[in-house]
Amino acid sequence: MKYLEPIPFKDGETVPFLGESITIFHSHSFQGDIHREGDKLIVAGPKVSLSKTIHDWYRRESGAEITRRVKKKSKMLDRTYGRLTIRDTKSRWGSCSSKGNLNFSWRIVMAPPYALDYLVAHEVAHLVEMNHSMRFWSIVESLFDEFQRGRLWLRQNGHELHRYGVEPPMKEGRESE
Ligand SMILES: [Zn+2]
Repeated sequence: MKYLEPIPFKDGETVPFLGESITIFHSHSFQGDIHREGDKLIVAGPKVSLSKTIHDWYRRESGAEITRRVKKKSKMLDRTYGRLTIRDTKSRWGSCSSKGNLNFSWRIVMAPPYALDYLVAHEVAHLVEMNHSMRFWSIVESLFDEFQRGRLWLRQNGHELHRYGVEPPMKEGRESE
């Protein structure tokens, strides 16, 4: 896979959220707040905590978007799930354990909603079928009929989401001399 330049969370940077582009605005006017206004993500507080505040916001939003979908889709299958955890995973977007615990990468909330819907449908379908059989895929389809579109998007573009919120590697030596 080719190396993609990291895109840190900083003032003026454009980042994806549910498939849309939003621009980070660092506001000095009030403290400790972060909120989205249309295509702007307005972040207050000291500059040093900007990146962490944005990471936390993504995790919260991701948790909310994923939980809502997991609840709806597990209900459709009349299944219960165990723990739902939002992580920063590198290798997988999501997983379902044999105990029915679900894990998701917070980064999936950057993807278009249909990719998020596909991923949740995939993991929730594992509550019924712990394999990738024909029956498994028919369950995925029953939960989200555009699953192929979401699956393709993740395959083609998923790696891009790992660029965001990552600090560029430190340069050798000092920056200004
Ligand atoms: Zn699977």
